[in-house]
Amino acid sequence: MRFLELAETLDNIERTTKRLEMVDLISGLLRVAEDDIKETVFLLQGKVAPDYVGLELGIAEKIAIRALSSLSGLREEAIEFELIEKGDLGKIGEELLKKKKQASLFSESLTVRKVYESLLRISKAGGEGSQTRKLQILLDLLQNAEPVEVRYLLRIVTGKMRIGVADMTIVDAIAVAFGSKENSDLVEHSYNIMPDLPELAYRAMAGGIDSLSTIRITPGIPIRSMLAERLPSLNEILTRMEGRFAIEYKYDGLRTQVHKIGSKIELFSRRMENITSQFPDIVKEIRENVKVENAILDGEAVPFNLETNEMLPFQEISRRRGRKYDLSETIERIPVVLFLFDAMMLNGKSLMDMPYAQRRVKLTNTIKESTKIKIAKSRVVTDVESADKFFNEALEAGCEGIMAKSIEEKSIYKPGAREFLWIKYKREYQLEMEDTADLVVVGAFGGQGKRSGGYGALLMAVYSKEEDKFKTICKLGSGFTDEQLENLPRMLRTFAIKKKDPRVESSIEADFWFTPSLVLEVKGAEITLSPTHTCCQDVVKKGAGLAIRFPRFVGRWRTDKKVDEATDEQEILEMYHSQRKKILADNA
Ligand code: AMP
Repeated sequence: MRFLELAETLDNIERTTKRLEMVDLISGLLRVAEDDIKETVFLLQGKVAPDYVGLELGIAEKIAIRALSSLSGLREEAIEFELIEKGDLGKIGEELLKKKKQASLFSESLTVRKVYESLLRISKAGGEGSQTRKLQILLDLLQNAEPVEVRYLLRIVTGKMRIGVADMTIVDAIAVAFGSKENSDLVEHSYNIMPDLPELAYRAMAGGIDSLSTIRITPGIPIRSMLAERLPSLNEILTRMEGRFAIEYKYDGLRTQVHKIGSKIELFSRRMENITSQFPDIVKEIRENVKVENAILDGEAVPFNLETNEMLPFQEISRRRGRKYDLSETIERIPVVLFLFDAMMLNGKSLMDMPYAQRRVKLTNTIKESTKIKIAKSRVVTDVESADKFFNEALEAGCEGIMAKSIEEKSIYKPGAREFLWIKYKREYQLEMEDTADLVVVGAFGGQGKRSGGYGALLMAVYSKEEDKFKTICKLGSGFTDEQLENLPRMLRTFAIKKKDPRVESSIEADFWFTPSLVLEVKGAEITLSPTHTCCQDVVKKGAGLAIRFPRFVGRWRTDKKVDEATDEQEILEMYHSQRKKILADNA
């Protein structure tokens, strides 16, 4: 198939926002792709291999610019400037080479296969002189490309497939191309246990859509991780779980899927990247302690201080990632313990359709715990008190909360699903700001539903003595009684102004503005970084301010306070820092 056909389909996809149309366009392409079907799907995804293979198609933008420069005659800096302005090298290249194209006489048309194979060579090129070879391959492609092909070639090689066809759109397209829309569930199920869309498209084409139902979980191919829903209280979790559930520590580390294939061990992240090389210590312990021929297990790798037997903050583990040279030193300095919580396959037999409790028994019977491999702490609870006790234990141990897991008959392992079979409950919901803040009303937003005609929320600010400014820190809509809500417009009417008061700094447009006059006492869950509020803008982090999360009115109108006695911006900064210290100390 000609690459032009694929590029034109991508162009059409880019012109529509309707998902159904996208599905139709892609399925049309798949139907005519024949021998090139795998390559076609890879290019649609902007990839040369499934994520778990770990073959990155990264060509530095600089090389792509060099190629464009050499073909168009325009200087590299000129292209760089244009890129800063327009932000899309694909479009820039398309325009530049359009002119050139009209003048050139010789060109052979590109096929999907040729493009794919060239890209594969680019991604495999390594070692000395590899940049020059990559450049040469790219030049060869661009020289023979039509303008619209140039656009997508450049986007694909620089890893910026702008339209980004979502995996689920391709899933639907495979169903429609080789069956019907009703087959989407089947394709999605296959995708969950074999996240390789080119392979699925090929099988559906060659063996018919029903042949996908024979796909089984396979050691060496990661499945999509099962995910958890969340609820705000243990009480609600207990109700949802019908009075009984398994409660587990929720470890704060890196989701790790373990595959044992004979003596070979592979580790995959939640995004299905192959992370085996970063954890040789874990690989070794699995080899020694998991005595089955093959297995697929689920767990969380957590940085750990083996001397004090304590978990370390999650960030420590990221120091391991992407390190190649000083890994052995890092392994000693930042040991990692793998806490296993599920088994999806053992000895060639899939356990995914078994209820959770049975899988857990199999897991416990198979794994010999060692210094670096442990089974996740778990217990069955039937009341909130014991659940709460376990939750506090988990926090004390350095976890971020608990995972509640259904032990009903229906509690199978559902790859890729975020459902209420697993429910997370984290420490942050229990956080409470140590102190209240006295905040100034600077604006308001019109209410809806029960609050229509009145205010839905107030825009609140801290005071900066240093600058004599009011800076926003949260929207406040909770904690008011109905009567207070009703009275608010009357109370604030006298302070209403048409435009934002010049002393108020806000990047949010309120519906109503007030002269800063009224002070309210507010409490929240915690102080967090915020992209929208102006309090402490750029102080803790560039581009961010601070906000109060889950703020609520505690019931006191601080009419005794003038606005310049409200909580100062500096106090919020101190509260933020002391809260950070507390969290770190709790987790240490
Ligand atoms: P979250 O990332 O907040 O959506 O929480 C889900 C994540 O918690 C999972 O993807 C795992 O990485 C992690 N986790 C930690 N402990 C457990 C556990 N016992 N069971 C399942 N997931 C866990």
